[in-house]
Amino acid sequence: MTTIEYAEILESLAEDDDVELKTTPTAKSFIDSLKVKKVECEKDIPFCVVCQDMMNVGDFLMELPCMHNYHVDCIQSWLATRNTCPVCRFELPTSDLVLGSIEISYLINFKKKLETLITNPF
Ligand SMILES: [Zn+2]
Ligand SMILES: [Zn+2]
Repeated sequence: MTTIEYAEILESLAEDDDVELKTTPTAKSFIDSLKVKKVECEKDIPFCVVCQDMMNVGDFLMELPCMHNYHVDCIQSWLATRNTCPVCRFELPTSDLVLGSIEISYLINFKKKLETLITNPF
């Protein structure tokens, strides 16, 4: 990959408002209070927008107040850097506390996103 391509990827990331550097994490106490459910019925498998994958029977999902469902791990790392639902942008309570792990999960997400863009640019 050339430096120019790399710069273009960074630029496209900067334009994507999901990856704005200045995002507010969701309050941890709020995330802890969210309902966790187990996927039990094969007919009713939700799609997780965060990892762009269907859930499987037996997976644990977390339901936001707007009734959107995600894998527990996916939504937790999502909410560690943002306070909105990935689908409908429903606003969740934020915390003033900035935890060290937030930066780490942000970097992990950033890296994932970058890898996705590199492997499938369109
Ligand atoms: Zn997921
Ligand atoms: Zn939602």
